[in-house]
Amino acid sequence: NRGLYIGRFQPYHLGHQAVLQKIVEEVDEVVVGLGSAQASHTTENPFTAGERISMIWPALRGLDATCYVIPLVDMERNAVWVAHVEAMTPKFDVVYSNNPLVVQLFVEAGMEVRRPPMYRREVYSGTAIRRMILAGDEGWRRLVPPSVASAIEEIGGIDRLKNVSRSDQ
Ligand code: ATP
Ligand code: MG
Repeated sequence: NRGLYIGRFQPYHLGHQAVLQKIVEEVDEVVVGLGSAQASHTTENPFTAGERISMIWPALRGLDATCYVIPLVDMERNAVWVAHVEAMTPKFDVVYSNNPLVVQLFVEAGMEVRRPPMYRREVYSGTAIRRMILAGDEGWRRLVPPSVASAIEEIGGIDRLKNVSRSDQ
C-alpha cells in the first residue's frame, strides 16, 4: 500500500524526517507531495521546488521505502484541490497530515487520514527555522539533515532569505 505525505518543506527538517520514518513502518511506498511548488523567493517560501527536491532526496534515500517526490502547485480553489492532487500522484491509500485544511479536504473526499504525532514542534518547525536563519542564529543547522544544511549553503539560501525579507523603505 501507498501513503501520501504533503508539505511545503521550506525547508525540510528533522520533524519531517521523523514523520517519514514512522510512515515507512506502515506503508510500502511513500508519495511526498511538494506543496506550493510554484512559490519561491519569499519569506514564507524561500526555495524553489527544484531546490527543495535536491534537499529532500538524500534524506529520502536513507529511508527503507520507495519514495516519489511530486511537485504540487497551489490551486486557487480548495474545493477541487484533492482532485488536483490525485491527478498528479500515483494512487495512494492513506494520507498523513497535521495541516487542518489538508485533513479537512481529504476527510471530505472520503480518504483515510492519519495524524502523525508532533516531534518537538517548538523547534522542528519551518517557520522557526526561517526565523533563526533571519536572526543569524546558527542553531538552525542542527534542526535539519546535514544534506539540507549544505544544500541551503550552496545555493546562497541564507542571503536569499535575508534579501527577500527586506523592504525598500
Ligand atoms: P511552516 O512553519 O513553514 O508551515 P512546517 O514545519 O509546518 O513549516 P510543512 O512543510 O508545512 O512544515 O509541514 C508538512 C507537514 O509536516 C505538515 O502536516 C506539518 O504539520 C508536519 N510537521 C511539521 N513539523 C512537524 C514536526 N515537528 N513533527 C511532526 N510533524 C510535523
Ligand atoms: Mg506548516
